[in-house]
Amino acid sequence: MSLTVGVLAIQGDVQENLISTETALKESGIEGKVVDVKTADDVSKLDGLIIPGGESTTIGQLSLVNSSLKIIKEKIENGMPVLGICAGMILLAKTADDRVMGKTGQPLLDLVEIKIERNSFGRQKESFEAEISMNSIKIPKFNGVFIRAPAVSEIGSDVEILSKFNEKIIAIKKGNIIGTAFHPELTTDISLHKYFVNLVKESKN
Ligand code: GLN
Repeated sequence: MSLTVGVLAIQGDVQENLISTETALKESGIEGKVVDVKTADDVSKLDGLIIPGGESTTIGQLSLVNSSLKIIKEKIENGMPVLGICAGMILLAKTADDRVMGKTGQPLLDLVEIKIERNSFGRQKESFEAEISMNSIKIPKFNGVFIRAPAVSEIGSDVEILSKFNEKIIAIKKGNIIGTAFHPELTTDISLHKYFVNLVKESKN
């Protein structure tokens, strides 16, 4: 059995995620390929999807217009694992407000009972790196790269907190859905990508 893991390639950190996921498959000894995903048709062939960091309004709007947003939602509702990174986590949320601008009415997937505060740690110049941990998925030490990062400001009872930093929730999990405020593809540590490809593999068994 061979897996197809996609990286949504509308805008953002696509290339870095393609490379990290390919390495994660190889190092995990899992047979599969990693593809960039642009259309609804591409989405329908996937076993797992990474929604990269970038600009959530752009990624959401363009995937709404080309009809992939709807099929992404359907596939995830039917159990397809997804890793939403930064802007990707914003898209998974039920609601998202900007720290300064407030409500933007941007298109969202509304798959997880979380409210997001966009740009929670400040804007580009306040970007930073910090050591974080995700103990429940056996990643005790990880270099978190935060770039115009969001935080989870409200969380439903069915959503697991994977990590906090400075009292803010920065990673969540609900079933096969994972969201992180930081960018695992911008470090050499591929442990989160490995965890994700293994989740994809398990979901196919
Ligand atoms: N601030 C961006 C947004 O709200 C997310 C930043 C990122 O993905 N690095 O879409």
